[in-house]
Amino acid sequence: MTPDELRAVHDALHRLRNELVAAGDHEVAAEWDDNVASNRDQDQSPLVEMGQTIASSRNRARAEQLIRIDGALRRLAEDSAEFGLCSSCSEPIPARRLALLPFATQCVPCQNGSEGAGKSRHRRKVTDYV
Ligand SMILES: [Zn+2]
Repeated sequence: MTPDELRAVHDALHRLRNELVAAGDHEVAAEWDDNVASNRDQDQSPLVEMGQTIASSRNRARAEQLIRIDGALRRLAEDSAEFGLCSSCSEPIPARRLALLPFATQCVPCQNGSEGAGKSRHRRKVTDYV
């Protein structure tokens, strides 16, 4: 990805994160910002603790998305050369997809493949067996 594209993804991730945080608990928001800003040891990430203390499924879904966003920001910071490559096939994820889902780790075909669990493989033609 070009530096401009990386910056755009970085901005999009921060925007999404701010929106999610603004929609929820402000104390969590403060802690999250502090964690990202100081970039502490990842093993001591408060994410696990946060996940345990958040009770409702709606909050949990938000927390999971925040974790994905945080993971994407970390990948962006640590290995920007690899960022935007599909984790399955290593092909670049289209910029349009990243604009919508900046934390996506797979391209659409691979995402569909993993979700569809090989459905299309069962659809064999008779000639396959001849
Ligand atoms: Zn792929």
